[in-house]
Amino acid sequence: MSYANAPIGYSTIGVGWAGPTIIVYGTGQQKKQHLSAITDAETMWCQGFSEPNAGSDLANLATRAVKDGDDYVINGQKIWTSGAHYADWMILIARTDQEAPKHKGISYFLVDMKTPGISTRPLIDMMNNHGFNEVFFENARVPRDCLLGEENRGWYMATTTLDFERSSIGGAVGARKMLEELTEYTRATPVPGNGHRLSDEIPVKVRLADAAVEAELGRLLSYRVAAMQARGLVPNYESSIAKLFNTDMQLRMAKAGMEIMGLYGQLDPKSKWVPLKGRFERQYLWQTGLAVGGGTTEIQKNIIAQRGLGMPRG
Ligand SMILES: Cc1cc2nc3c(=O)[nH]c(=O)nc-3n(C[C@H](O)[C@H](O)[C@H](O)COP(=O)(O)OP(=O)(O)OC[C@H]3O[C@@H](n4cnc5c(N)ncnc54)[C@H](O)[C@@H]3O)c2cc1C
Repeated sequence: MSYANAPIGYSTIGVGWAGPTIIVYGTGQQKKQHLSAITDAETMWCQGFSEPNAGSDLANLATRAVKDGDDYVINGQKIWTSGAHYADWMILIARTDQEAPKHKGISYFLVDMKTPGISTRPLIDMMNNHGFNEVFFENARVPRDCLLGEENRGWYMATTTLDFERSSIGGAVGARKMLEELTEYTRATPVPGNGHRLSDEIPVKVRLADAAVEAELGRLLSYRVAAMQARGLVPNYESSIAKLFNTDMQLRMAKAGMEIMGLYGQLDPKSKWVPLKGRFERQYLWQTGLAVGGGTTEIQKNIIAQRGLGMPRG
């Protein structure tokens, strides 16, 4: 889908993160209710993990879910919630035991966004897009069967979701597509004054060759993650390696495109002079955010060092 530039929008969260987590931890009823609706794109999902004081240190979250009869009553705030304004459902983590150590008192919920007491407020990003939101919970009452897995074990499920999120397979495939478009652009674009095409210029060829090597590496790292998933394993530091490499690689790819296009590469997509619909300029700005979303570059390096290389937590 990524290769075909399909407009998958926020269905990534359902298909790539929520669905696979429900497959691992959901009850038969939860799987029946959600999985085919996700794959048929009948439901859109968002991810309610980050909070104003819980980003990299996610277990610091303060949103509370208190058991009350057959329900949980949720109060608190989430932030940077991509697509919450479109979403039908949210994967939510909230604190259910105030006394437990911070990683142990968290539970994982599948929450209907139409629940009374849930409201969203837009956050506008540096591309002037409304992608993120703040989400507020004021006595939002959800039934007990929204709990995924065991109560107070939500941290471990959340890390599974993050492992799926970091797999970055779509990104690697998208990079291949960008490389092909850029290569075609250099073949079609004359260099003013010397009768050459951009593709005749040695620095352009070198830049594209470097990008080709990186795109191939990103694809192979992603295949490794996909192969583990196909065997029923949950990739961990392997996902962090793929995420770290692919986000940096796509940023370099976007930068290469903008430099090869010269000043045209910086034009807004609405400009009549913009090459390739402005995809490289958009990707450059978007990619900067993707190095933060799903866990920052520094956090991926911590995971690779600790879980991949067995180094002590520092
Ligand atoms: C495009 C995008 C989409 C997002 N979508 C969602 C979403 O849908 N749902 C959701 O819940 N969240 C979402 N987020 C939020 C994202 O998960 C957080 O921004 C991210 O986890 C970082 O948290 P923070 O912003 O609080 O930064 P902080 O945690 O405050 O980090 C600030 C800086 O300190 C560094 N740092 C922090 N701790 C350490 C450490 N232990 N070692 C080394 N360096 C450290 C970080 O790397 C970073 O550079 C999104 C963010 C972006 C950019």
